[in-house]
Amino acid sequence: MRRRAVVCLGVMMVVSAVIGAGPAAWPGKAQAPSFDGARAFAHVERLVALGPRPAGSPALRQARAYLTRQLASLGLTVQEQPFTASTPVGPVEMVNLIVRLPGDRPERILVAGHYDTKPMREPFVGANDGGSSAAFLVELARVLVARPQALTYEIIWFDGEEAFCEGWTECGSAARPDNTYGSRAYVDAARAAGALPSLKALVLVDMIGDRQLEIRRDTNSTPWLVDTVWAAARRLGHARTFVERDLAVEDDHLPFLQAGVPSVDLIDLDYPAWHTPADTIDQVSPDSLQIVGDVLLDALPAIERGLTGSEKSEVRSQEFQKLRSSKFELRSSKFSALLTSYF
Ligand SMILES: [Zn+2]
Repeated sequence: MRRRAVVCLGVMMVVSAVIGAGPAAWPGKAQAPSFDGARAFAHVERLVALGPRPAGSPALRQARAYLTRQLASLGLTVQEQPFTASTPVGPVEMVNLIVRLPGDRPERILVAGHYDTKPMREPFVGANDGGSSAAFLVELARVLVARPQALTYEIIWFDGEEAFCEGWTECGSAARPDNTYGSRAYVDAARAAGALPSLKALVLVDMIGDRQLEIRRDTNSTPWLVDTVWAAARRLGHARTFVERDLAVEDDHLPFLQAGVPSVDLIDLDYPAWHTPADTIDQVSPDSLQIVGDVLLDALPAIERGLTGSEKSEVRSQEFQKLRSSKFELRSSKFSALLTSYF
C-alpha cells in the first residue's frame, strides 16, 4: 500500500509537470479516493450473477435496483428516466438511470455507458458488454462524488443500447434505428427541455473490461476529446492500451454527436467473446477497468479546461510561440487552417 502511494505521488508530480503551472484542477484531489479496479470488478460480478439482462426484463429491473442501492450508499440520488421504446418486438418499457454531481458551473459533462445486455436465444450474461460499463460508472461515481468539479457531472446508465434483432442495423430504419434506445431518449428529452446547449461533452464507455484491452481511436468521436484522452493515456504509460489505430464505431454517442454535443467513445470492439455466450466474468479483468478509470480521471480536468477555455488559450499561445520562432514562412491558407483548428 505504501509503495503504491509513493508511486501514485510520483505519477501525480510528473502529470502536474506535464500539464504545467496553474491552479490545481481538483483542489480536493489529495483527499479524494482513487479509482479501484477491484471494486469495479466486484460490481461486474454482482451484475453477471443476475443472469441475462435484456431491456424490459425482470433481471434488468434487479440490475437497476442493485445500481440504485450502490449509488444510494454513496449518498447519491438516482433519477430514473423511464420511456417506452418502440422496438421490433413491440413496445418495451425502458429506464435510463442518471446521477448528477453539481459543480461550480451548471454546464454538464456526461459520462455514460449502457447497462442492458443483448437479447439472445443463448444464455448471454454480457460480463464485458453491458456489465463492465455499468459497473465502471458506479466506481467512477464513488471517486467523482468526493472531488470538487468546475463543471457539473452527470453519470448516465443507458437502457436499450443493444439491438433486438441479431444485427445492429438488421431491423429499424435510419430515422428509427433498432439500437441506442436509451441514448436517443435522453437526447430527445434534453432537446424538449431546451437543455441541449448545457451538454458540453459526453464520454462514453463500452466494453472496457476485456482482459486483453486495446482501445482504438474512434473516428466518429470528436477529435479534440480523443486527443485529450489519448494524451492522458500516454502520460500514465498506457499507450499500449490506448493505441494509435483508428476505428469507426456506432454506439450511444451518435445521437449526441448528431445533436452537436462533442463526444468520445472508449470501446474495445476487438473482443472474441463479443455477443456470444463466452462473454463471461473470466473475460473481464480488474486491471483493465483500473487502466480506463485512471486514464479517464486524468483526462477529465483537461476536458474541463478544454471546455472552459483555459486549455484552448494555453495551446493557442504555445502555437503562436512556435509560429513566431519559426524560420519558415507559413502559407496563409495553412496558417488560417491552424487558427481555425484552435479557435
Ligand atoms: Zn453489445
